[in-house]
Amino acid sequence: MTCKSNADLQIIVDEVRSFSEKGAVADYIPALAKVNKTDLSVAIYEKNNLCIYAGDYMRNFTLQSISKVLVLALALQDRGVDYVFDRVGMEPTGDPFNSISKLETSIPSKPLNPMINAGALAVTNMIKGESENERWERILQFVSCLANKPNVTYDVEVANSELETAWLNRALCYFMKQHKVVEGDIEELMITYTKQCAIEMNCFELARIGAVFALNGLDPETGERLIPIHIARICKTFMVTCGMYNASGEFAIKVGIPAKSGVSGGILGVVPEKYGIGIFGPSLDEKGNSMAGIKLLEILAERYNFSIF
Ligand code: GLU
Repeated sequence: MTCKSNADLQIIVDEVRSFSEKGAVADYIPALAKVNKTDLSVAIYEKNNLCIYAGDYMRNFTLQSISKVLVLALALQDRGVDYVFDRVGMEPTGDPFNSISKLETSIPSKPLNPMINAGALAVTNMIKGESENERWERILQFVSCLANKPNVTYDVEVANSELETAWLNRALCYFMKQHKVVEGDIEELMITYTKQCAIEMNCFELARIGAVFALNGLDPETGERLIPIHIARICKTFMVTCGMYNASGEFAIKVGIPAKSGVSGGILGVVPEKYGIGIFGPSLDEKGNSMAGIKLLEILAERYNFSIF
């Protein structure tokens, strides 16, 4: 399966690249700041296994928050819907992704959804395995299957850089341990979480993962079921309600597709029954979304009538 460059897509990429100038790359994880702010690439994977791209689509980036959707899909398979949602809610927060405030005020005291950091940390804690290594290997293997990439790896520098600086995420974990939302060793959980966020891939591989969700969990090449249909549906719903941080409402109006972004500047987009989309544009707006990436999706959505609404 190869991806072909597309002149029309390249014109849109060149048109929106300037939006990167207005944003900033994430630097609260120091190693994330080492990127070129104006990079922009996109791949669109069609359900009939055609793929088009524009920009440097082979450039690797880390998934960051995009990994939260994938690990949620695995945790739901490991533990079942009731177990997961006994511990993590289903509601958007309207708060920044790393906010701690609603953890204290929600009754019962659990994270409001699996897309904010608190909820994602709780979900990573649910992955089955006898050891940190076994849990990590299961996450990697699952992501490998979705991306059809045999040797998925993670960026060790980015993972270590986050591990050394993730005081707020540690605080979220200890708060949740007090309230029995998470269990076990918090440092081990932090190691798995920072590695999951540092999983590397390019736009093409990300677009392929989007195609799996677009097909409700089926492998676009083999037709094999990789994610149960009810779980693919739950993941896509969270992508709509909370996938684009506290800009998810505006994104639903302007683009109208399930999507998840990460502070690396990646965006996973899903046009149900049609396309998986992978975008990388590291310059972020104040909510943490790729500035040029969002603009690109707005143009594509309007031109090709993407909205599911
Ligand atoms: N690793 C990042 C963190 O936990 C992910 C955040 C994101 O991409 O939104 O802070």
